[in-house]
Amino acid sequence: MCQEKIDAIDIQYLKGVGPHRAEVLKKLGIFSIFDLLYYFPRDYDDRSNIKPISFVIPGERETVKGVIISSSEFRPRTRGYVRSIFKVLIRDNTGILEGIWFNQPYLREKFDTGKKVFFRGKIEINRGIRQINSPDFELIDSENDEIFLGIVPIYRLTQNITQKQFRLLIQNAADKYLNSISDFLPVIIRKRNNLIALEDALHNIHFPKDPACKERARTRLVFDELFLFEFKMVYKKKHLLSKPGIKFVKNDNLTESFLKSLPFSLTRAQKHVLSEIDLDLSSGKIMSRLLQGDVGSGKTILAIYSLVLASANNYQSAIMAPTEILAEQHFRNISNYLLNLNIKICLLISGVKNRKEIEKGISDGSIHIVVGTQALIQEKIKFNRLGMVVIDEQHRFGVAQRGELRQKGINPHILVMTATPIPRTLALTLYGDLDLSVIDELPPGRQKIITRWISESKRAQAYYFVRQEISKGNQVYFVYPLIEESENLDLKAASKMYENFKRDVFPDLRLGLLHGKMKPLEKNSVMQAFRKGDIQMLISTTVIEVGIDVPRATVMFIEHPERFGLAQLHQLRGRVGRSKSQSYCILLTSGKVSLDAKKRMEIFVKTQNGFELAEEDLKIRGPGEFFGTRQHGMPEFRIVDLIRDARVVPVARKEAFTFLQDETLKKDNSILLIEEEIKKRYSEKTEAS
Ligand code: ADP
Ligand code: MG
Repeated sequence: MCQEKIDAIDIQYLKGVGPHRAEVLKKLGIFSIFDLLYYFPRDYDDRSNIKPISFVIPGERETVKGVIISSSEFRPRTRGYVRSIFKVLIRDNTGILEGIWFNQPYLREKFDTGKKVFFRGKIEINRGIRQINSPDFELIDSENDEIFLGIVPIYRLTQNITQKQFRLLIQNAADKYLNSISDFLPVIIRKRNNLIALEDALHNIHFPKDPACKERARTRLVFDELFLFEFKMVYKKKHLLSKPGIKFVKNDNLTESFLKSLPFSLTRAQKHVLSEIDLDLSSGKIMSRLLQGDVGSGKTILAIYSLVLASANNYQSAIMAPTEILAEQHFRNISNYLLNLNIKICLLISGVKNRKEIEKGISDGSIHIVVGTQALIQEKIKFNRLGMVVIDEQHRFGVAQRGELRQKGINPHILVMTATPIPRTLALTLYGDLDLSVIDELPPGRQKIITRWISESKRAQAYYFVRQEISKGNQVYFVYPLIEESENLDLKAASKMYENFKRDVFPDLRLGLLHGKMKPLEKNSVMQAFRKGDIQMLISTTVIEVGIDVPRATVMFIEHPERFGLAQLHQLRGRVGRSKSQSYCILLTSGKVSLDAKKRMEIFVKTQNGFELAEEDLKIRGPGEFFGTRQHGMPEFRIVDLIRDARVVPVARKEAFTFLQDETLKKDNSILLIEEEIKKRYSEKTEAS
């Protein structure tokens, strides 16, 4: 029998759809029957025992059913956010309740007096009246509708299609196509993980008989999504591993002299990672490793070690950083370590002098280590023997850029570093094609950074404190969200504050200004002066957010911290506390801040550990937003919630590994089924990463 492939059937041909409705569905990302069946409910409404209106509990989410008594719309006189208020009053045998909507005047047409309706939402009491703000609603057209009386799915929809209409489409699709679905997951994996059949899962996620039934469906679908994602990652990784890697021979003399030249001894965690890197590099396989460690944990030194080892093996290496000032810092830092070694290093950023010469040195192999920004991945840069690639602050780059640098060599080793604390489960998912190394301790003697959130009224006091720190020989960062003051936003900008400080507040101190619009050379000389201590106080934008290492700086003063996300604040705070001295982070907000921002500030003040902070951030904002945008390769899941389903990630990953290892499975067609399923789900939706 030739099975119809549900991902190949245009949604337009489903009973009840047609060209017009197909357009509406496309806006929801639904193009095929597959897309429709995999469009999961965002919530459920249990109508199997609906409470009488007078029994509902304030604060709870409840469903009620009643007859519409009246509806009315108001347009407030005052100009503000609320332009229209729409109210619908309903009644049952026991009482009345009001549904209320803001700025949705189009609802006017929908509620005819005398009709029956379901409302669902959080119950509030307002001036003695039971109320639901923006309830999910469903009009009951005929008693027939009451077939939807058990647990009813609620979907994320646009105003052009109602819940009921959508539900009927799903039902049509389920009736017609579900029994022709083939389950791609091998029985043995299904059994081992106690998973129900795909067909049942897809039916029950939309139309569960009871909550337990819904949970079983969800479990299956969550597993599928993670399994396929991990499968893809593991596959990619195996593919890499199947290629020969460059075998670096450990050169004890060089390694020893390098380690001896350090002004400190490595921490236990650093040593451990070093041995992991050593093992990888000498294995004959390609190293693909993610090095994760909180800000200030000392990742750079391990990168430098890898670069040096590559040089000793007569290979070139490259390290890429997201900003010019960070590239510049790495360049200086690495150069210092190489003083006694016969290794040639160069800096490649835009606008660098003697660029031609550098390009030539890279292509003829006379330059061993190249430190740079994205300028490194320009087409004209050709390496002679690139054997080792390091990417610092990886989260600032896209997956594609990582690949582009790698392409410059023939199967080079790669080490990617990130200080953005990603919870382990998330790291496993995001970077599943990489091995993970973690530095989980800070160098000895580091103190907790004292963090305070203050308001405008304490400004003078805070300035006084800053002055005291400087008089002890310490240095200070002031960070502002903007360069120039803008008319629309009432924000203090870096250059304006710099002028103000120089003239009025700290005329006797040595100040510097730094922002992204300055020329590389200017930035460079300001940074140099700050590093040397010639500048005592650096007034800056977020160009210093990542990587910058000036151990004598002990105060990070952030204005308008409400403008930054938690991850960003953490990075900024990480610029201090890099020596044994006590350091401080001061957040100054002027005026009112939103509730969200307040929550962020409070968490930030009390949480120091980057991993905990990231978990909190994830909880507040959801995984998608933690990284800001999709370009960071963050997978978009249909049903997986990385926080709630964290525990399934390693299980699915292990299954994917085991499967790919098992030769017998490859003989039957199960791998083909899986590959097909991956194509269905990931073609054109995620880039080939
Ligand atoms: P990050 O992990 O944020 O990139 P860095 O590599 O910049 O951190 O290191 C932060 C600071 O700690 C640097 O000044 C570095 O020289 C110093 N450092 C690194 N490792 C150690 C160590 N084992 N003992 C003492 N200081 C160290
Ligand atoms: Mg760093």
